[in-house]
Amino acid sequence: MPQNHFSNKSALESGTWVKLICGASNEDLPSITDLCAVYGAAGVHCVDVAADIAVVAAAREGLNWVESKFEKKPWLMVSVSDGKDSHFRKASFEPKFCPKECSQPCLKVCPANAITQTLGVIEDLCYGCGRCLPACPLELIKEENNLLEIKDFGALVSKIKPDAVEIHTAPGRIKEFERSLKAILQSKVELERVAVSCGLEGHGITQSELSKELWSRYECLQRYKQKAIWQLDGRPMSGDVGSGTARAAILLLEKIQAIAPPGPLQLAGGTNKKTIHHIKSNHCLAGIAFGGVARKLIQPFLIEAKKQNKKLIECPEALNQAINMAQGLINPWLRKRSGGNF
Ligand code: SF4
Ligand code: SF4
Repeated sequence: MPQNHFSNKSALESGTWVKLICGASNEDLPSITDLCAVYGAAGVHCVDVAADIAVVAAAREGLNWVESKFEKKPWLMVSVSDGKDSHFRKASFEPKFCPKECSQPCLKVCPANAITQTLGVIEDLCYGCGRCLPACPLELIKEENNLLEIKDFGALVSKIKPDAVEIHTAPGRIKEFERSLKAILQSKVELERVAVSCGLEGHGITQSELSKELWSRYECLQRYKQKAIWQLDGRPMSGDVGSGTARAAILLLEKIQAIAPPGPLQLAGGTNKKTIHHIKSNHCLAGIAFGGVARKLIQPFLIEAKKQNKKLIECPEALNQAINMAQGLINPWLRKRSGGNF
């Protein structure tokens, strides 16, 4: 058992937990290895990746590198969805239909550099953030579902053997949630946690209705003897890079923490460097997950390594710089005291 097995658990309990979200639709394998290596070295407790065998192999390469250098190993979490979910989509369009005079706003807004003039969307690089969809004045860009079917969860989890699984769910989908959980548990893999990702935006429900939804998931997890993490998605991920989004997850936390079911809370969706400054409570026991902002921070290093046909873990100087930058993002959370003093 890795040395930090217990520290991952205690970080969850004390609210100093930090997770890296690689993206449920991100299939850019070299960048996944590097993201896991950089943020694992920086100190995250968990990395969350797509439930895909190639993606998991890339993530494990990064995590094994962390273990070999630092004798610590973040948990590997894979994400699935019990129904339609924007985290599990890809953008696509046919470049041949684009007028020559188009100023290509889609290219400019894509944070993953996943759109090229000639090829359109490069599927592996697109992580489904959705920014390009409204950017096209001709509405040529469509979203495509990238969802795994519930019936396939068990077989996949038994092959992947993750430490934790996250189920993306939505109001009114308790039956689908239970079917997903049962399918996952058919794998017989012992999970440290089952994270439940369920936000408010886009569903038109109040926080007390969200609380009821979470309690129904809690009762379901209890029936199957599973421990939860409650991921509070303040904003859909398309908002997670702009600095003005930092308050959304905190507002949701303030509304929900008194009425949420037992188990650790984790902020997500709209989280960024400024999020910690919005915490007012002296009893903030919530951890945090960083997605787009974490990826964007080290993207210049990933691009530079790619130009040299290398992974970032093969470029020691740039790697150290990337780890320093990652630490700048996550250290305030790792050092946060559960009493709310930073
Ligand atoms: S903007 Fe987002 S959804 Fe569009 S191609 Fe880039 S990563 Fe994919
Ligand atoms: S904005 Fe629309 S029309 Fe212009 S390049 Fe992008 S997809 Fe094509």
